[in-house]
Amino acid sequence: MAMTAARAVAAGGPASLSRFRGALVAGVLGDCVGGEFEGAEEVPMERVLQHLNSLDDETKGNGILDYSDDTAMARCVVQSLLTRTGYDEQDMARRFGKEFSTSPGRGYGSGVVQVLKKLSAPQLSDVYQPARAQFNGRGSFGNGGAMRAAPFALAFPDLADVKRFAGLGAMLTHSCSLGYNGAILQALAVHLALQGALDPPQQFINRLIAEMEEVEDNEVTRNDARILKEAEKPFCERLHRVRDLIDRSKVSIEEVISELGNGVAALHSVPTAIFCVLHCLQPRECLPESYGGLERTIAYSLALGGDTDTIACMAGAIAGAHYGIEAIPQSWIKCCEGAEDADVNAGRLHALYYQSAKGGGSGNENERGEQSCDDRSKNASNGTEKKTRAE
Ligand SMILES: [Mg+2]
Repeated sequence: MAMTAARAVAAGGPASLSRFRGALVAGVLGDCVGGEFEGAEEVPMERVLQHLNSLDDETKGNGILDYSDDTAMARCVVQSLLTRTGYDEQDMARRFGKEFSTSPGRGYGSGVVQVLKKLSAPQLSDVYQPARAQFNGRGSFGNGGAMRAAPFALAFPDLADVKRFAGLGAMLTHSCSLGYNGAILQALAVHLALQGALDPPQQFINRLIAEMEEVEDNEVTRNDARILKEAEKPFCERLHRVRDLIDRSKVSIEEVISELGNGVAALHSVPTAIFCVLHCLQPRECLPESYGGLERTIAYSLALGGDTDTIACMAGAIAGAHYGIEAIPQSWIKCCEGAEDADVNAGRLHALYYQSAKGGGSGNENERGEQSCDDRSKNASNGTEKKTRAE
């Protein structure tokens, strides 16, 4: 359709600089504007629109909305990928530890704090060990790996690299397959959106399901899913639900929350973020006509309540890769701490991506450090981290 075609042109061709900038900046934006509603059970759309309208008030000054752990850790991922020209687990782990010790008040989950403290210890050799030890060896299935996964899609042109390094990067803090597979799904979504493959949405979802069928086809995933009483391939099952929901002409926010979730588990937030982007490809009655697709995506993500900063951050990164930087209102960018830095770094990642495409840097990782959430969490909430916003 005409509107979609026009926006695709605005975003440039596959893997254009505009798409890179859109992905990284809109991720920061979702985190910053989402902080206002984090943890809220119900968020009326009027409140969301009021909050977003207030960003147009120029008297408020620049950078008034602080970023949280989502952006703090994504910045570490970006800096590490750029400095090491690929994935270096030692470097990335130490950056996470250092960032936390320098600025601990960014709303980190209570569980991950223990891991981050251990990651900053200079004598640590196996950087995946602290995450594996978490929750009595079960590992975390929170969305902390997924919230910082977008930069992997911006650094590696090859799909296999995106999956591999997004998974390994997540395992530094989230060793349960339901945590790191969520990071892989998020990175895949950004990768495909970057290629211009988000529209038509049914095709996009089918592609994600096909990829995740492969990602989840192993004993570790099956075992974790069994323990947590989830479907055999949990993310595939959720993506089927996303496909059913986008096929429907009308769907209420309550239905989205009950079908997909809005919580801190990766399984209850990554498919939700993907749904937000796809649902908002078209204008929606509850949203202003003046909004473009990216603005609709951010507003809609916030109205779901729950883990709003992370869901809006992940949805923002996917939408930004689809619509490009031109779709983000300048006034929103100016209000968000770290958005301008993200814009600069997106340009650097774009250069690295094309350098890698020509056969340059990749990664120097160890063997895949998989670990199951083996012992039996009867209560699914046991493996997630309770998030508290300390600032
Ligand atoms: Mg956060």
